[in-house]
Amino acid sequence: MIRRRRSGTGTPFAFLEGVLNPDVEKLWELQNVLSQLGDREKQLTSKPESFAAVDREWQQANEEMTRLQQSIDQLSKERRRVEGELSDQQEILKKYQGQLMLVKNQQQYAAAWKEIDATRKQVKELEDSDLKMMGDMESLQSDLDQRRSGSADLKSRWDTAHDAWQHSLGDLRAEVEKLKERSAKIESQLSDRLKQDFFRIFKQRQNVAVARVVNDSCSACRTRIRPALFQQLKRGELVHCEGCHRILYVEGPAS
Ligand SMILES: [Zn+2]
Repeated sequence: MIRRRRSGTGTPFAFLEGVLNPDVEKLWELQNVLSQLGDREKQLTSKPESFAAVDREWQQANEEMTRLQQSIDQLSKERRRVEGELSDQQEILKKYQGQLMLVKNQQQYAAAWKEIDATRKQVKELEDSDLKMMGDMESLQSDLDQRRSGSADLKSRWDTAHDAWQHSLGDLRAEVEKLKERSAKIESQLSDRLKQDFFRIFKQRQNVAVARVVNDSCSACRTRIRPALFQQLKRGELVHCEGCHRILYVEGPAS
């Protein structure tokens, strides 16, 4: 929507009595529509902060829960290994205890006892390690369970923010469609030569092809407009800025 200012911004009053160029008016409107379109399309591709904040929180909570689960899985694997070794050592211990019955002298007896003693120590260490891991796993699991139940609230906040964002995207898409229709309608009213001129400058000059005249100067590049060009503008001719070659636009009087 183009809003006309109630008075010229420094434009000489006499100038306002000149003829407005309808083509330039259309180009000015087209440029405004394209600029809004660009903004909306940018919004469509970026997460709004209202959603991004809760999304970060949710990701963080999920990473933490995944990390806990991985630690539990790793401990469980390690426990299986330790329990396997423990049962091997218990077998060995039984074997040594059986051999104790078969010893023939004091020396063999002492040697068998030494083996039994060492194996018992190992069995004890493995049992301790197994118990410790079991305790660690239990505390990790309870931490994980607590986080899981606590994350229900976060998940519902995430859902709400996500829905609101998706909903706003629907509105944005509708706006984009409307703006596209408007730009197509304006373009259909322009000659090919004029459109080419406009879009060439639009691309070359950071999406500003039409520049307002403010204080007798081009508002885009500040080049002063010579009196001869002013006369042309006043007659309603299409005039390019001598500094940046943009199309000069003079706002009409308040309507
Ligand atoms: Zn200029």
